[in-house]
Amino acid sequence: MTRLPTVFVSHGAPTFALEPGLAGPQLSALGLALPRPKAVLVVSPHWMTHGARVGLSPLPATIHDFGGFPQPLYELSYPATGHPELSQRALDLLLQAGWTARGDEGRGLDHGAWVPLRYLYPDADVPVFQVSLPDRLDAAGAWAYGQALAPLADEGVLIVGSGSLTHNLYEFRAGHGHEEAYATEFVAWVREAVQQSDGARLQRTLELAPHAKRAHPTTEHFLPLLVAAGAAGNAAPARVIDGGITHGVLSMDAFVFDTVH
Ligand code: ZN
Repeated sequence: MTRLPTVFVSHGAPTFALEPGLAGPQLSALGLALPRPKAVLVVSPHWMTHGARVGLSPLPATIHDFGGFPQPLYELSYPATGHPELSQRALDLLLQAGWTARGDEGRGLDHGAWVPLRYLYPDADVPVFQVSLPDRLDAAGAWAYGQALAPLADEGVLIVGSGSLTHNLYEFRAGHGHEEAYATEFVAWVREAVQQSDGARLQRTLELAPHAKRAHPTTEHFLPLLVAAGAAGNAAPARVIDGGITHGVLSMDAFVFDTVH
């Protein structure tokens, strides 16, 4: 059985689907370079639930869960199939680890999943299912959530945490023509933590990193990074994919974590 790394991707704004920037081509190259997964599991902040949920649909619909963006974005779709067997396995693992969890047969793919997947697997020929981000999760909880899902990485599933390495939506909406220094400084700190494979430090990012509160006024776009790192075990240095900073304030970095179970 192929053991797969885990991945954190930044999906930034929905317009990433139309504007590949630095990150898009590198995600496509990553998709080609990785061992071919049986399925992709995505944890996205755009599916937050009370308790964990697992998407069990064999044909998940593309959800356009955003408003006020250019019309072409609403015409994009991602016609990957689901993987009922492996999504059921994810649900079983969460239950075994003590999480309150249940399946959702009707859930489709939100833009936190399909926007980066259009780069990672542009032909939509790898099955995809989502696992929700439970609300009220703290850093240690996000790490543990990843650990609960970790066996899937040994069973041919690519575990992807999708968020944004910086995510201040107020500043995004205000529009910034230049790259904000605070975002660069926050990104540099996190890159160092993942490259030093310091899981304990990484879990304390929002307490320790410079400008953390400004980079993440709320935590939901950061926590998927800890899910991905927790699923990997984080004992090897992560590979950094420099996605640059879009709209002045949204870091598009991705990280690839080798798994060490
Ligand atoms: Zn988002």
